[in-house]
Amino acid sequence: MAIAATPIAQGKSLLELLEQKVPPQERAIDLYRRLLAINTLSGLMGSAETIAQLQNFLSEYFRECLGDGAARLYVLEGSCYRRIRLSGVPVPERESFLPGVKGLAGGVLKSGRHLWIPDTQASDRERKLFRNGRRSFPGSLLIIPFRAKDKVIGCLELTSSRPNRLDEIEYHFGKIVATHLSASLENILTRQELASANARLKDNDERLSQLNEKLRQLANSDECTGLFNKRRLLEQLDMEIARAKRYGEVFSCFMIDIDDFKKVNDRYGHLAGDEVLRQTGRLFRQSLRKSDFIARYGGEEFTVLLPRTNGAGAYRAAENLRSKYMSHRFTLPPVEVSLTLSIGITSCSIFDSLDAPAIIRRADDALYRAKRSGKNQACFNEENDAGAKIVRIPSNV
Ligand code: GH3
Ligand code: MG
Ligand code: MG
Repeated sequence: MAIAATPIAQGKSLLELLEQKVPPQERAIDLYRRLLAINTLSGLMGSAETIAQLQNFLSEYFRECLGDGAARLYVLEGSCYRRIRLSGVPVPERESFLPGVKGLAGGVLKSGRHLWIPDTQASDRERKLFRNGRRSFPGSLLIIPFRAKDKVIGCLELTSSRPNRLDEIEYHFGKIVATHLSASLENILTRQELASANARLKDNDERLSQLNEKLRQLANSDECTGLFNKRRLLEQLDMEIARAKRYGEVFSCFMIDIDDFKKVNDRYGHLAGDEVLRQTGRLFRQSLRKSDFIARYGGEEFTVLLPRTNGAGAYRAAENLRSKYMSHRFTLPPVEVSLTLSIGITSCSIFDSLDAPAIIRRADDALYRAKRSGKNQACFNEENDAGAKIVRIPSNV
């Protein structure tokens, strides 16, 4: 969008035009265009969402309206000032960051008062300001501070090589621009603060849910093996019982104990024992189905829940696990050891009015049967001879 449809006054000030005896009609048209341009700029500045957008609108305006003059912005960002070239002779870069602003602009930022010198050579007082070895200095200068939240956060610097180019009319136009600039920047900064506060909140939310997830995992898992712990097992067992009742499904449960595990500790130390437990966890995960729920009950005892698995299916799964375990060589450098498992199996259906402790008790009974019968085997629980009955049911899984 063009801020001014046609070049305004060929870059001349309105007073200059007067002096040049431009016909009044042309002057009036020029002033009218200038007012239109500042009106358009005000509207655009109000809608700017970023400093970059603001910079583009202002650049266009000053290129059109300041002719051979130069316009710059200094905007406070954090602890630095961003210097932005809007029009005219370029600073080395289009924009740069400065820890502090020196010279006349620095003075304006510090005092919060504007500096307007229509003719820098008008008197000694003005000339003194531009000594200090400066090679080139402007003929005319206007620096106006702008504020956001009652704090000076930058200034607009207009210069022209020609004395009196920045006359009274330019001074008033400059003040209008600075007023809109303050409002617009305040808007942008509030928006940015809001956006970064929102981003921080979102970030905190994500970290919190990650921590919660970690906490949940820690609360549900066994540190040594990474398997589920007893607390989580009891929850899952309640769920399996509810599902079995609701859908008339069968499920099975193993209570597993490593045979003669104490000997590993006694011979190779507790760290080696821990390593066996870790490898046991991995082996169980590899050997059982993904849908099976594996938990460390405690010590060298493990519990497995096999959903939708009847006695026959459970027995096959137990035998498969037992034989894989028996043939596994546990590496405990420098030695390798073989171990065996005793597995107690119990299967439950809607015909058993069981709760979680009763199921654990039945699986325990079955395990002690396996131990009493010489270890390294899978047994059903004795109570109501569930094993014998259930094993005869053909597997449906
Ligand atoms: P059985 O065949 O009758 O089951 O004999 P066992 O030696 O496996 O069983 P016992 O109950 O006599 O010994 C179990 C051992 O497991 C004793 C205990 O110190 C050890 N143990 C329990 N938890 C851990 C653990 O987290 N790490 C290690 N290294 N050892 C453990
Ligand atoms: Mg044991
Ligand atoms: Mg034991």
